[in-house]
Amino acid sequence: MTTHDLTLISATDSSVLPREPFVARHLIDGRWCESGDAAVFERRSPAHGILVTHAARGGIRETEAAIGAARRAFDDGRWSSISGRDRATLLLRVADLIDRDRERIALMETLESGKPISQARAEIEGAADLWRYAASLARTMHGDSHNALGPDMLGIVVKEPIGVASIITPWNFPFLIVSQKLPFALAAGCTAVVKPSELTPATTVILGELLIEAGLPAGVVNIVLGYGEPVGALMTMHGDVDLVSFTGSTAIGKAIVAAASGTLKKVSLELGGKNPQVVFADADIDSAVDAIVFGIYFNAGECCNSGSRIIVHKDVIEEVTERVVALSRKVPFGDPLHDNTKVGAIVSLEHRSKIDGYVKSAEAAGATVRLGGSSLSVPGLQEQFYQPTVVTGVTGDMAIAREEVFGPVLSVLEFSTFDEAITLANDAAYGLSAGVWTENVHTCLEFTRRVRAGTVWTNTWMDGFAELPFGGVKESGLGRELGHYGLEEYLEVKTVQMRIGRTRTPWVQNR
Ligand code: NAD
Repeated sequence: MTTHDLTLISATDSSVLPREPFVARHLIDGRWCESGDAAVFERRSPAHGILVTHAARGGIRETEAAIGAARRAFDDGRWSSISGRDRATLLLRVADLIDRDRERIALMETLESGKPISQARAEIEGAADLWRYAASLARTMHGDSHNALGPDMLGIVVKEPIGVASIITPWNFPFLIVSQKLPFALAAGCTAVVKPSELTPATTVILGELLIEAGLPAGVVNIVLGYGEPVGALMTMHGDVDLVSFTGSTAIGKAIVAAASGTLKKVSLELGGKNPQVVFADADIDSAVDAIVFGIYFNAGECCNSGSRIIVHKDVIEEVTERVVALSRKVPFGDPLHDNTKVGAIVSLEHRSKIDGYVKSAEAAGATVRLGGSSLSVPGLQEQFYQPTVVTGVTGDMAIAREEVFGPVLSVLEFSTFDEAITLANDAAYGLSAGVWTENVHTCLEFTRRVRAGTVWTNTWMDGFAELPFGGVKESGLGRELGHYGLEEYLEVKTVQMRIGRTRTPWVQNR
């Protein structure tokens, strides 16, 4: 097909592009610093090609220093022993500062990641909401008491902050994901070392500035910039770290479990997904088609929750496919800085090649590319774009049906019976999220029970709330974020047994 069929948004207003790159440094023990060996790395905008960020590149020395600062800050109680009310007050202040700086944060997020500016703004607003929600948890955190253990015993279960948390984040939602972790860790009373992705360091650094402005004591949050090796690896192995909270690929998640096993620290993982949307013949097709298009092209498909495969009943598969293809052509994509753009640039050229590889291998295996299927230049911008792509005739054994493509590429599979739909939906190593489209409530409920996923959407896709836990089963992760479960990840349980009166029978008769 030609690109004339698509809704392209060419390069627009270049006056908002920064003249100078953002200079990002580590935050260690309350001070901004370069690396001891002066090492640096750079990030260019995937859409515009300009130098966006010039960052200090951390090594062993910076990581050790950051972990040491977090350890001291935890152990001396400057944060862990203050009241929930005082912690909440600070978190609320951070939320207000995020709102104040929304535009600045959104611009950097867009320039580093390639995502549309309107989406970045919404993510920054969502992040502020997470800081507010975590503040509410800081004040309501409590344990249990057991008053039915007999006349001479009171049992108390207290919740305590787990200690020093290593927080490692990916490039696809940098500010939102750090906000799914850090405010919950802080609400619990933990201290932290944070490492953003090397592709998107800037907005985590801006968050560090806001934390200082809000009055967070030095050393409570430390930020080390750099790569998985050596920074991330040391953050997962170090004996002074009590918990690793990681969002990223399943491959690195597995490496982290192995690295953390040396010190048996707690590990919380939010990993990849191969999320199915199952469309039954009685579905509201209008709504389903819109949600399918949203589910696959949101964040250019670079999304753990991407609805990357649809499993459609044979009676409606042709209609659904045709309508998805037609609507895909109307999705505005191009310059991420244009207010109307809904799909921006792919994060890197290597990643764009990986996406293309999945499409080509599906074609070679007998699938049909109904729309797109190649990269694309947008006038005035870099070549880091990929066409909205729909691949039909996909079968469960193809890599495109089982592996995370992480691009704007939809796989279409067909089913005849309910059992077949469930088998296909569960036929992946992942289990992050799943969706079902049907007007029959019984089908919805049966699907919800039998699908193996951490989140199930019925007649909707990718809604999210601070109150509702999020996470995956199988190879999509361990543990949960958000909701009160998100706070529990950062808490340790201590059991206290208190005898009332001198009623204990001596173990040895000492007379
Ligand atoms: P990635 O695994 O390559 O990197 C994630 C982070 O880990 C980066 O900060 C990276 O520097 C760091 N890292 C790399 N090697 C490391 C090591 N050995 N030890 C410790 N840290 C190391 O992932 P990515 O490419 O940045 O992000 C895309 C992946 O993230 C996708 O698989 C996606 O599904 C997943 N993701 C999951 C969720 C979720 O909530 N389930 C959300 C967003 C992204």
